[in-house]
Amino acid sequence: MIVAIIGAGPAGMSCANACLSFGLTPVVIERGDHAGGAQRTNFHPNLWMLGAPGESGEAITGRMAAHYTTLPVTTRYRTRVAAVTGDAEGFVLALDTPDGAETLRAGAIVLATGMRAHATAELRRLAEVSPRVIIGPLSLAIRDDIHGAEVLILGGGDNALDHALFLAERGNRGLVCARGAFSARAGFLASCRQRPEIELREGCVPRGMMLAGERIRVVWPEETRDFDWLLVMYGYRPNTGIIECFAPDLRPALTAGGHVEVDAWQRTRIPGLYAAGDITDSPQPSIPTAIAQGLAAARAIERDRQAGRIGD
Ligand SMILES: Cc1cc2nc3c(=O)[nH]c(=O)nc-3n(C[C@H](O)[C@H](O)[C@H](O)COP(=O)(O)OP(=O)(O)OC[C@H]3O[C@@H](n4cnc5c(N)ncnc54)[C@H](O)[C@@H]3O)c2cc1C
Repeated sequence: MIVAIIGAGPAGMSCANACLSFGLTPVVIERGDHAGGAQRTNFHPNLWMLGAPGESGEAITGRMAAHYTTLPVTTRYRTRVAAVTGDAEGFVLALDTPDGAETLRAGAIVLATGMRAHATAELRRLAEVSPRVIIGPLSLAIRDDIHGAEVLILGGGDNALDHALFLAERGNRGLVCARGAFSARAGFLASCRQRPEIELREGCVPRGMMLAGERIRVVWPEETRDFDWLLVMYGYRPNTGIIECFAPDLRPALTAGGHVEVDAWQRTRIPGLYAAGDITDSPQPSIPTAIAQGLAAARAIERDRQAGRIGD
């Protein structure tokens, strides 16, 4: 049975690996040009992966991807799913590939598209035209390219303040601008308050943002200021946009928080449709959680196939 796995992060790679051992044929569809997922650009030391002390997400998922690419798994990179419909035998996926339109038939689908950093439409437009506007904390440019710079960080949570401290230690000056009150851990707040390079502002809502040469001009009612870099740390949302291309009767239910709803076996309410990793709600989203859920989804597909709950 062909299992279409959408997303080649830890959940998708793990699911594909497990499918092989259960006699299933995985075909992985990845919109990017490499496997590994969000952590491929996380340079911070990983916190939750036992057996990898001090290693970054970049190193860990790089190693996983190196293993994954040796497996006999078909991976369609730079490919998007344009539409998903059903027929008597299962699912029909219309794919946009670099070589044109293709059709893939699959007995099961696993959604493993992870999460995406949140930003307003205005900020996304700015990020499209300037590499100095970075959305979310998972970017190697934060480590490699920002030195001796004036940085505006939008957001008031842990990621915003953690990055303000990280950048201050590397000779940058930062303004952290929280729309409301700071919600970051008390320890981060206390450390930021001790650093003269970090300015903290609550109730801080820019009126406008635009490019000024290579810099970013930000307008508040009381002042206009130019920054070398703009980091947007507004948190994350499950990456469920993929569901919009599913036929209405094949769309899975979502939780109140917008995650794909699954049972303990990673099954959605649609027979043959599973989800794993950060697209589902989890008490602790992480690489090990995603790996375990990808494995569980493959096991569930095998079980459901044997029990005749889904086609062969
Ligand atoms: C700031 C931050 C720090 C973190 N630190 C840690 C840590 O230290 N240790 C740890 O274990 N975890 C950490 N995590 C959590 C970890 O990143 C995730 O739990 C993990 O990456 C989830 O894996 P995934 O496979 O579900 O999703 P992802 O890693 O997000 O992978 C999803 C994949 O799907 C692809 N994709 C998305 N949409 C589509 C589409 N429409 N079509 C095709 N492909 C698509 C993406 O390109 C990507 O390759 C951190 C997360 C954040 C945000």
